[in-house]
Amino acid sequence: MAGKQEQEDASDEITEVAPGILRLQLPIDFVGLGHVNCYALEDQRGFALVDPGMPGPASWQSLMTRLAAADIPTRRVHTIVVTHSHPDHFGAASMLSKETGAEVVAHDRFRTLFDPRDLDDGDLDDADPGADPELEVFLRRLDLPRPSPWGGEPLGPPRERLEEMRSRGAEMLQWMWPPRPSHRVRDLDRIRLGDRDWVGLDTPGHTDDHLCLYDEEHGVLLCGDQVLPSITPHVSGMVDDSVQRFVDSLDRLDGLGRVDIALPAHGHPMTDLHGRVAEIKEHHEQRLDELRRYSDELGWASVTDLSHKLFRPRSWGGMAEDETYAHLEHLRRRQEASVREEAGVLLYKV
Ligand SMILES: [Zn+2]
Ligand SMILES: [Zn+2]
Repeated sequence: MAGKQEQEDASDEITEVAPGILRLQLPIDFVGLGHVNCYALEDQRGFALVDPGMPGPASWQSLMTRLAAADIPTRRVHTIVVTHSHPDHFGAASMLSKETGAEVVAHDRFRTLFDPRDLDDGDLDDADPGADPELEVFLRRLDLPRPSPWGGEPLGPPRERLEEMRSRGAEMLQWMWPPRPSHRVRDLDRIRLGDRDWVGLDTPGHTDDHLCLYDEEHGVLLCGDQVLPSITPHVSGMVDDSVQRFVDSLDRLDGLGRVDIALPAHGHPMTDLHGRVAEIKEHHEQRLDELRRYSDELGWASVTDLSHKLFRPRSWGGMAEDETYAHLEHLRRRQEASVREEAGVLLYKV
């Protein structure tokens, strides 16, 4: 995957990508990504920041450095927009809103998997009575690796990373504390930011709660992780019917009126949204075709075995299996594939 835009290291250059919209790149050490684009939208009241980056001191430090370089005092940040519930997008939002008092804007269905406030009944029944309940719930939610539904590689970060996360629980929680949006955007809701009128577009698939913002008058689209310029966004089997919903979301963006520039969360601005949408759709069609072919070759096969056909060895593991599982479930929903279970492992025949 050499030469992918999304893997480039975060640049310290501040670029004006559209009138009044600055791009600040923040570093990420996240599966296959080098940076996240934080967009700063200026108006008379100050700034709205879209996707302020990863949780943790390193990303925070670069955010502060970039804001200073862009001449944006933190007190002038009045709004934080989070495009979806992945940590490279919402990570710094909670800390930043605490620092600035800024409003947090996200999708109506925005939800992280490890919000200590989303307590389930019985979550803490067997907890030590002296335990800090929020920290306890957080650590339990992080109690990864979790078994995968298809009986393959467990889901979650690598074991070394988890040990570190557990031992630094309290500090992690301070950084990972998920934001509670103060303004939730439903499909087609209008919001004014950076002296532009934006329409919120419900674009599920990559996550259930993915939000794009469209400035129809000027043909600008903030497209988060829905359309990326040189990698195909991850589609997870853990999101219900994700492949179909992701493709429907692509079609929806394709059907918008004028889009002169699409601003992704990773990589450079795109001027040919339609072309890129077509390529990403084609990628998913090919993936489905490959599954049909490999299934003919292997007969009943596990998600793991099929993922080893679809992906190169360096990509094998939980993410590749999850993506394979998403496509197999898509075929199963269309009644093009059957599934059965053997000793806790799902086997598919397409
Ligand atoms: Zn994402
Ligand atoms: Zn992302």
